[in-house]
Amino acid sequence: MAMNTKAIVQIGPYRIGKTLGVGSFSKVKKAIHVPTGRKVAVKILNRQRLHTMDMGEKVKREIDILRLFVHPHIIRLYEVIETPTDIFVIMEYVSEGELFDYIVSHGRLAEDEARLFFQQIISGVEYCHTHMVVHRDLKPENLLVDHKQNVKIADFGLSNMMKDGFFLGTSCGSPNYAAPEVISGNLYAGPEVDVWSCGVILYALLCGSLPFDDEIIPNLFRKIKAGVYTIPSYLSTETQDLIQRMLAVDPIQRISIAEIRNHPWFQTNLPQYLAVSARETIEKTHTIDEKTINKLSDKMGFPRDKVLEALALGPDLLTRRPLDSNERTSAERRDLRRMAVAYHLMFDHQQAKVNSPQPSDPQTPNPSSVQNSPKSTMFTPASPMPQLSLNPESTPTNSFASRSRGKDPFSVKNVYSTASLSQSPTQWFLGIWTSSDAKQMMSFILQCLKSLRIEWKMVSLFKVKARCICDR
Ligand code: ADP
Repeated sequence: MAMNTKAIVQIGPYRIGKTLGVGSFSKVKKAIHVPTGRKVAVKILNRQRLHTMDMGEKVKREIDILRLFVHPHIIRLYEVIETPTDIFVIMEYVSEGELFDYIVSHGRLAEDEARLFFQQIISGVEYCHTHMVVHRDLKPENLLVDHKQNVKIADFGLSNMMKDGFFLGTSCGSPNYAAPEVISGNLYAGPEVDVWSCGVILYALLCGSLPFDDEIIPNLFRKIKAGVYTIPSYLSTETQDLIQRMLAVDPIQRISIAEIRNHPWFQTNLPQYLAVSARETIEKTHTIDEKTINKLSDKMGFPRDKVLEALALGPDLLTRRPLDSNERTSAERRDLRRMAVAYHLMFDHQQAKVNSPQPSDPQTPNPSSVQNSPKSTMFTPASPMPQLSLNPESTPTNSFASRSRGKDPFSVKNVYSTASLSQSPTQWFLGIWTSSDAKQMMSFILQCLKSLRIEWKMVSLFKVKARCICDR
């Protein structure tokens, strides 16, 4: 069904401009937020089309997640405007398109340039994980780049909320970037599958090609499961080390985000604003910027107390239909919304200047983290490394440009639906994510089970079936 969005020239305070891109079920247009003059991107979703394509859930999930996120490297959602026929998602405008096209046009990047992209991506992914969200479809097509070479993580349609004690089981994501346990339909905790995809992205940035590629999907899956790829010798030893640890086939041996942060390659030239933890970034977003409030009252006449009232209502004001309208009229809510959006647009514009690595930014490494991560502690002797064919002359041949874009995520099967488990679990799937020695951790867990009067049967080296004997 063709979407007729040509006629729309204005929606709310936004003047709609040219089309930026066409997604699988949406059209994205550039627009101007007239009161502040700031550029935004408007994703236009036709309700009928969403219904026909059964995509309502994907869109709802993306909005529910993005509305809560405020991070310099995650696409910002400002507000959602709903009409009877369409949903308008007002987002941060990102001018230079997808990282995919950037790699295609630039070829493989120098280590310094690739590192800066990678540091930004990891910082954004860490922020998602801190909010218990796993993206599950990280790939250069879902990473947008702005005019200052800032990456913005987008497309949270396949993301999922993690729950302590539960594993995820849906096989999803784009095959070339999907972790072995995902394509095998195994259960996974969450963060480790994003780490794998970031490893593939890092490889693509540095080599201009994909580590795992094949025209025939079963062959591709075989390569991924065996961890067979070529690592070019022009990469520095530290870079090779990081890639190998991110592309560890065994998710237990795979490096964690915290360990990536401490890796010497990651720490090199780390901009100050990225050296802070995701927790600190979250805390920062809860502080109100007086300068922006003053600007709003001076330039636009918004009363300070009203702006504060609007901000106190949080994301619900911007993305939900009025639920508590018994207290405020719809005109009052509309005014508050107007103020909140203007505040966020102006504040973000200000922050973008501060957060971008400036030419004068010394990009001082975070000394504490470097000291805390002596290289020797990064290798677990027992780690089964992926099979690598290390050919000094070779340049990987999986040409990035010639590969079709991995637009279509796959969805093979839902092994254990976390939704059905959460209703009334008779069985629990518990897992532990650890960077300690796996065998030692296993024996510690068994001791704990014993002391809790739980009996078990070893299913494999790191898997037990357990049941409680307390009442028997
Ligand atoms: P869908 O989720 O419907 O597949 P996408 O999110 O992939 O749609 O968006 C389609 C295209 O629109 C993207 O490939 C990109 O080129 C462009 N686009 C999306 N969001 C933005 C944005 N915030 N700023 C600039 N361009 C964007």
